[in-house]
Amino acid sequence: MKRRISWLAALLAALMMLSPAAQAAELSETQAAVSAGEQAAAPAEDWQLLLVNPWHTLPEEFQVELKTLPNGMQVDQRIYDNLTDMLADCKAAGLCPLVCSAYRSMETQTRLYRNKITRLRAAGYAKDAAVEEAGRWVAVPGTSEHQTGLAVDLVAASYQVLDQNQEKTAEQKWLMEHCWEYGFILRYPTEKCEITGIGYEPWHYRYVGKAAAAALHEDGLCLEEYLETLEAAEKTSEQAKNAGTPLRSPGIFSAVRPQSKN
Ligand SMILES: [Zn+2]
Repeated sequence: MKRRISWLAALLAALMMLSPAAQAAELSETQAAVSAGEQAAAPAEDWQLLLVNPWHTLPEEFQVELKTLPNGMQVDQRIYDNLTDMLADCKAAGLCPLVCSAYRSMETQTRLYRNKITRLRAAGYAKDAAVEEAGRWVAVPGTSEHQTGLAVDLVAASYQVLDQNQEKTAEQKWLMEHCWEYGFILRYPTEKCEITGIGYEPWHYRYVGKAAAAALHEDGLCLEEYLETLEAAEKTSEQAKNAGTPLRSPGIFSAVRPQSKN
């Protein structure tokens, strides 16, 4: 089934379901958050490297063809085989991984975000503080990788809690070691929080394709850093072309490593 998603329309539809009092507040908060974000460059030719983070919102005309996993959740159909292969091999190693979150529509992401704000308000947070704190735990609608269909949260059946102890499970150890072989990366490593804008999540895996995953694994880069190296390499080859010099191997994974930001 081909699903065409105009996320802004979906967001407005989701907001229609709110109470009138909540609507105005929610709309202004969400609009402010979204307009503050920079529109992603929408590399249609390279869907595997689509960047969605706190500073790059989902492209407005984003569309994804979904495929349903055995547990009823959905992912971009193009990552289905690699994901199910990875989970099957993890199981074959005697482990029990579970997909606890996959594709989320704009409506779902908006609901999760709104619920978090409501819970924080109930816990005594002032309005602005609740909005700020909620953004730390639940991505602002339009900035969640789960909306791309390329990300999944994986947990051990024996420990289905999304906290730092997840990394101690045998399932996560296996996944962290082998995910790149299937085109996945652990998207939010603990040492890259400043660059990704998201705290350590030893359960959130993102499909980037096998070539990119291998390169990221090899060089210890996060997706933002990897995209910077690609951009720098492109610039270098462009300059070489303009200067009329023969194009040399860009060496993008070693020669043009960006400076660490933290
Ligand atoms: Zn996640």
